[in-house]
Amino acid sequence: MVVVRTLRSLAEARFRNISVEDLSSLESTITGDLLPNLNPRARRLLNLASLALNLASTPTMLKPFSMLSVEGRRRWLERVNVESTIYNLISLLDVVVLATHMANPRVSSRIGYRREEAMSRVRVEPLPTLSRSGKPRGVYDVIVVGSGAGGSVVAWELTRRGFRVALFEVGPEPSRVDLVKLHPSFRALKYYWDSGLTFTWGNPIIHIPFGRVLGGTVTVNSGTMFRVPGRALNLWYKATGVNVDSGTLEEAYKVVEGVLGVKQVPEYLLGGNAMAMRRGAEALGLKLHGPVRRPLGSCLGLGECAFACPSDGKIDMRLSFLRDAVSRGLEVYTNAHVRRVLLGDGRVLGVEVELGGVSVRVESRAVVVSAGALNTPRLLLASGVRNRNLGAHLHIHPALGVTAIMNYKVNGWVGTMQSYYVADLLEDLGVLLLATLPPPGIGYSAGSIPFEEIHEYPYLASIGVQVSDENTGAVPRRAVLGVADYNLSSEDLEKIREGVKLATEILLAAGARKVYLPLKTTQGGHNVEDARRVLDRAKPGLFKLSAYHPMSTARMAGDPSAGVVDGDGRVFNYDNLYVADASIIPSTTIVNPQLTINALSLMVAWRIAKEL
Ligand SMILES: Cc1cc2nc3c(=O)[nH]c(=O)nc-3n(C[C@H](O)[C@H](O)[C@H](O)COP(=O)(O)OP(=O)(O)OC[C@H]3O[C@@H](n4cnc5c(N)ncnc54)[C@H](O)[C@@H]3O)c2cc1C
Ligand code: SF4
Repeated sequence: MVVVRTLRSLAEARFRNISVEDLSSLESTITGDLLPNLNPRARRLLNLASLALNLASTPTMLKPFSMLSVEGRRRWLERVNVESTIYNLISLLDVVVLATHMANPRVSSRIGYRREEAMSRVRVEPLPTLSRSGKPRGVYDVIVVGSGAGGSVVAWELTRRGFRVALFEVGPEPSRVDLVKLHPSFRALKYYWDSGLTFTWGNPIIHIPFGRVLGGTVTVNSGTMFRVPGRALNLWYKATGVNVDSGTLEEAYKVVEGVLGVKQVPEYLLGGNAMAMRRGAEALGLKLHGPVRRPLGSCLGLGECAFACPSDGKIDMRLSFLRDAVSRGLEVYTNAHVRRVLLGDGRVLGVEVELGGVSVRVESRAVVVSAGALNTPRLLLASGVRNRNLGAHLHIHPALGVTAIMNYKVNGWVGTMQSYYVADLLEDLGVLLLATLPPPGIGYSAGSIPFEEIHEYPYLASIGVQVSDENTGAVPRRAVLGVADYNLSSEDLEKIREGVKLATEILLAAGARKVYLPLKTTQGGHNVEDARRVLDRAKPGLFKLSAYHPMSTARMAGDPSAGVVDGDGRVFNYDNLYVADASIIPSTTIVNPQLTINALSLMVAWRIAKEL
């Protein structure tokens, strides 16, 4: 099979001394764990990337990549232009090779990461099942589409108030066995949209993963909770003329924080990566830093939050709002793809949903679309809603990771995955720094150091830099090349540079031996001046970017010329059609958005309860 052959030959080229035993483990993990968990679209992309790599080497080397000698492959890889499409496709294959190689317990135990030992502390009791089998019956008061940060809260509040509610979620419900047994690399393939291989299209191409699972992206997020800074409400008013009442928002924040159990991460869970960030911030005399707040459950510091927590350590939508709502009568249907909202004359009648391969028409008195900022506009457009703001104004908060090899052991995979922040650049530049270190081989830190240096993993520290973007992109009606069109503006690039410089300074002040900048051309560096020089010269296409916060694609506004929904989430020109998710945020939240999506969605539910 071309994928297996190509990944194996790439692994041989990347890891200088990989043993025959490790190579055959890699092959069996690809066929046994990777391919079976891949979504069909992602599988096609991997096939395409593998074919492209083999074709690309042929004109100059006269042989497909996997037929070259190991040295030949290395020489050819060194010559690939970092701004070419083939470079991006090779990077994708690199990510897969690294994640699969590091998922091998024999390999990861060499660097001291022993997942099995950590998992033995997790109580493997079955989770109560929230979704039901069978078909929806009769006419519902409310249908909610999507079970993420927005949909779960609306479904909870309306069920609690006695309405008959059905919630349709296209993703699966995770079982405890999968959460404990499956390595996070393979959970990502199951619980992310298109197995996590989703990108924006533009300059540069940006990796933008999001959830396709019960509980939405919250099930696979990092769990960091911020309320928006006060100035966000003015910004929103300026953007769309919508007046979000600060008192009502405060009230909604209090309710959702209470249900989620939001608390500051305690010292014993901060972990080595956060400690390194704190040490650096203190050495530089920074003013605004500390442990983040999060929905804290029985966290064991396993560091796998972004791949669905195996231990109920992160209280997500399933463990809070959905569990309570189901106990009060909410009907949850998973693997249920809503294809269309059924529109009548200025009213919705219900939805058409694909359940178990069969298309079913389900009626309701109101519909709330909570499919997330990248899917809600597409669903509404496919249903016939017309508004030129639908899909436009997309903010994503571009992000990148700065990684360092410290002169002491960090063992950054121990502790809460994202647990410490620095906000000194937030007020002026909208830049937030977060200490984030997922398990070896995946996430920000993965691929940032050369393959030959993975034995240095215990010494790795990593800081995520995220930017509140001024520029916006758009969600196309059909996703052909990317899930969104987005170009980085020079102003936002400037802010990214400043954030990366500060992260570099923090890591050096904390005792870094070498800092790796998030650039495709990076060599490890030792001082701030060199880093500044390299960063100032780097073009947008050289930055290794990702984004986790799509928002504003069906934004709230004072009138339909500026947005898609009114200040209470009702779609303009439709009496009983609402949106409650990241799409309604009028402009950037500046900080991480989950808590604000939860709160705004609760406010939408309050309005629906009044009107039904
Ligand atoms: C790796 C990662 C880390 C993050 N970390 C943080 C963090 O630390 N703090 C923070 O505040 N935010 C974080 N976020 C962002 C946050 O999780 C999202 O902003 C939030 O979950 C968005 O909520 P939503 O309701 O808009 O959409 P989602 O939570 O994405 O929910 C939408 C749901 O709708 C479903 N759906 C879509 N289309 C259909 C359809 N047609 N029919 C049925 N169902 C459908 C999807 O499968 C999905 O489950 C992170 C995101 C990622 C990817
Ligand atoms: S660190 Fe994250 S994944 Fe690990 S137990 Fe805590 S919440 Fe769960």
